[in-house]
Amino acid sequence: MPAPPARALELDAADPGHRELFHVPPADGGDHRSTAYLAGNSLGLQPRATRDELLADLDAWARLGVEGHLEAERPWLPYHELLTDPAARLVGARPTEAVVMNSLTVNLHLLMVSFYRPVGRRDQILIEESAFPSDSYAVRSQARFHGRDPDTTVVRTDDAAGYLARAGDRVALVLLGGVNYLTGKLLDIPGITRAGRAAGAIVGWDLAHAAGNVPLALHDWDVDFAAWCSYKYLNSGPGALAGAFVHERHLDDPRINRFEGWWSTDPATRFEMAPVARPLPTADAWQISNPPIFAMGPVRTSLEIFDRIGMPALRARSQRLTGYLAELLDQVVATRPLTVLTPADPHRRGCQLSVRIGRGSAAELTKRLRHEYGVIADAREPDVIRLAPVPLYSTYHDCWRAAAALAALVEEGR
Ligand SMILES: *Cc1c(COP(=O)(O)O)cnc(C)c1O
Repeated sequence: MPAPPARALELDAADPGHRELFHVPPADGGDHRSTAYLAGNSLGLQPRATRDELLADLDAWARLGVEGHLEAERPWLPYHELLTDPAARLVGARPTEAVVMNSLTVNLHLLMVSFYRPVGRRDQILIEESAFPSDSYAVRSQARFHGRDPDTTVVRTDDAAGYLARAGDRVALVLLGGVNYLTGKLLDIPGITRAGRAAGAIVGWDLAHAAGNVPLALHDWDVDFAAWCSYKYLNSGPGALAGAFVHERHLDDPRINRFEGWWSTDPATRFEMAPVARPLPTADAWQISNPPIFAMGPVRTSLEIFDRIGMPALRARSQRLTGYLAELLDQVVATRPLTVLTPADPHRRGCQLSVRIGRGSAAELTKRLRHEYGVIADAREPDVIRLAPVPLYSTYHDCWRAAAALAALVEEGR
């Protein structure tokens, strides 16, 4: 059983985070004002500033109609450009290398159109053993699209570096999750990127669980391409617009194929309505359609928060907060049929800790955490519970509540 919450409350007083910027779902009765929200790895909380931002964009439409494209306070035609610099800063990209558009799996497909180029025996796509299903479906459908058998083309391994050393000449594309969605393990992104490129493969990263969670330096790490969503750690709302990164060395390469639309072409000549696109050498060339303006305000609001506070400060608080939860969980699991799946080394994880339960259903346990203790965690069937103290808004007391509730709900006896 973890110690009483006095120490958690002391830690909160000394290391408070930025909870006041967010709406935290309220508790429904009981001893607490709010839920202990540890599901920001699944859906981040709403920044308080988001509503006004959205209403301002709606007002501009009401007042201006079509003229809002040029005359809104933040004109719609170049609106996406407002997101580029902060998104680039977040992932360690140059501004020409980043774009906010579409949703994550769509971006993975668009980037694979450019970067999955099977030739002869070099046709394999390497993904993790426990890849997120959408990524697995995406690469398998890409293999089929290229006339290959997904069962032999898609290789699932938790030892990408080992496979590359053995059979690197068969690999066309490495596409891994930077932080694994299930285990919370942070991979060695620069190391695997180096190994993949040295083997002659293209290396792309799915940063769904990494963006806004761990520091990234995609340009310096020489990553070929990457994509991420904005509704997890980036707090931009359900189904929010996603991001994409294309390394500078690919931006002006005429051999690279791409699906294009009118938002791919140079904005300076877009309205000449020419029949042939003339894209600029930036990641914007991967855009296709004119973007949903009302979906962009929430991303802008969220990225402003990251810019203001900075990933180094967030990462530091994240390691303190997750370190505290790890300490508490170690006590809880010591005498119970529970195992922490996430690496104990703080450099090999972000803020999420995953717990495998030895008996019963994770969904059932998560329901009881919610209804009996006001702890919002999330379950991955059949037997994994994920707890993510998010450095922007989670508290030490939230961590304590989660550990104490798990201790109370899971009987002792391994
Ligand atoms: C959350 C997540 C997705 C979700 O894909 P969408 O296209 O945003 O629905 C895909 N891949 C990974 C690794 C994820 O964690």
